[in-house]
Amino acid sequence: DRKQSADVVIIGAGPAGAVAGALLKRKGYRVVILEKQTFPRFSIGESLLPQCMAFIEQAGMLDAVRAAGFQYKNGAAFRYQEQYSFFDFREKFTPGWGTTFQVQRGNFDKILADSAAEQGVSIHYQHEITAVDNRDDGVTVSGLDATGKPFSIAGRFLLDASGFGRVLPRLLALESPSGFPLRQSLFTHVVDHIGDEQHDRNKILITIHPQHRDVWYWLIPFGNGTCSLGVVAEPSFFERYSELKPEARLRTLVQQDPALSQLLAKAEFNQPVREIHGYAANVSSLCGPGYALLGNAGEFLDPVFSSGVTIALKSASLAAEVLDRHLSGDAVDWQQDYAKPLKQGVDVFRVFVESWYDGRFQDAIFYAGANVDIRKMISSILAGYAWDQANPFVSQAERRLNAIVEICRG
Ligand code: FAD
Repeated sequence: DRKQSADVVIIGAGPAGAVAGALLKRKGYRVVILEKQTFPRFSIGESLLPQCMAFIEQAGMLDAVRAAGFQYKNGAAFRYQEQYSFFDFREKFTPGWGTTFQVQRGNFDKILADSAAEQGVSIHYQHEITAVDNRDDGVTVSGLDATGKPFSIAGRFLLDASGFGRVLPRLLALESPSGFPLRQSLFTHVVDHIGDEQHDRNKILITIHPQHRDVWYWLIPFGNGTCSLGVVAEPSFFERYSELKPEARLRTLVQQDPALSQLLAKAEFNQPVREIHGYAANVSSLCGPGYALLGNAGEFLDPVFSSGVTIALKSASLAAEVLDRHLSGDAVDWQQDYAKPLKQGVDVFRVFVESWYDGRFQDAIFYAGANVDIRKMISSILAGYAWDQANPFVSQAERRLNAIVEICRG
């Protein structure tokens, strides 16, 4: 049994863990990250939002991310039958970054983790956490390393950034049902051979299924002639195609939308088609004695607005600030100082996700009559600035959204 100690122990070296680790190291703490897998490893979640660039910059990782040559991204485009609408994130209400990247996550996550390590964070790969002992004055986590040897690490505080691994929610029985219906996703990377010069590779393209408005596709172009392609629907929709193998199922679904099918007419499917389901999740609390939950280890809403990595990095940044005060001996109220401000933005995304699936926000997106100022406010939300209380679509999300829906539905 090997025992080590640190100021802060972090579970998971994904974006939330790597950024939190680097931020805390920069404040002078000894940080250890325990990561179950080896990097690079596949992860879904490839379309970033401009808001997350501020946190990458804060963590000293901007040069490394820029140097990787990822596909530039400046907005989001939406298609429904004959309608097309796009938002350019540089034209937005909230000040700050207006562009970002579309990233292959294996590579992106490795760059963030390597940068954290270069800054002095100690990362142990192939260390899976299986048990935790948490108290107000310190925590110990333990598990098995790649050779099957048990290890345990003690720290003054524990951050769970285990994403869909949901380590503390499981070990501490914090799981709570998501308010969203069960949805699932089928996706892959294709060599796209898109010849259409009108197609804008600098934007994610979200296509709404022509007959089922709660079913949608993503197309996220990368810089090397490939795209991430996926479809999201409720399980009952996918069950109609259960006799088909995943690739045939995805191809069939793409063919159901004429514009997408035309765009991808020459696409080569040369990667495995994967499925993920039951990803929407919540917890009864984001903090407790000696610990806090970051990113997807806390709540995950829905992929439609590509908000996952942004929320993960916002949580890392907020937690690092609060934890710095906590470890310096200040009295902090994690619920008030961490969970509440984080949830404010998450709840804004929740309003937009709900209204996406009931059709209200889809109508607002395609409403050509919206004035420039309103479009800038919506653009800000889509760019990830869901914590900017100066934006009426943040401070009064439901009310402002309903007002515009009333106008566009005449
Ligand atoms: P992760 O990136 O999941 O990292 C967690 C890490 O913890 C992993 O490396 C894992 O190996 C490690 N771990 C797990 N268990 C243990 C353990 N027991 N011990 C040690 N380590 C452990 N987000 C976007 O921003 N843009 C998108 O376009 C987007 N599309 C999505 C599409 C779909 C279908 C889904 C389901 C999600 C999508 N997301 C998207 C969300 C995105 O995938 C996540 O929000 C994001 O990866 C969360 O980052 P994280 O750091 O919290 O966790």
